[in-house]
Amino acid sequence: MYCEECRVLFEGARCPVCGSRRIREPEPDDLCLLTEKEQLWSDVLRDVLTQHEIPFLTEGVMGAGLALRVGPMLERVRFYVPYSHLERAGEIAAELFGEEQKQ
Ligand SMILES: [Zn+2]
Repeated sequence: MYCEECRVLFEGARCPVCGSRRIREPEPDDLCLLTEKEQLWSDVLRDVLTQHEIPFLTEGVMGAGLALRVGPMLERVRFYVPYSHLERAGEIAAELFGEEQKQ
């Protein structure tokens, strides 16, 4: 199932992120959270996704509390890809990051 608010895919009747029950089956154009990476790795992933012609959208994740905890150099970036490209993008990310990909 898919939650439009959080852009995540999951199993079950409730979004695991926001707890919403306003969920539906994913459609090909739905943006889905692929992964979240540090700034450094996000540049690499951007390049590779572009090379594979996978459309994606990024969003910086920078809470003030997080910045204090990990420092500004470790700003994290979330990657979203259309559901239709999610499987391929997941494979690419897995190849790129290996074990680190597991969340
Ligand atoms: Zn949600």
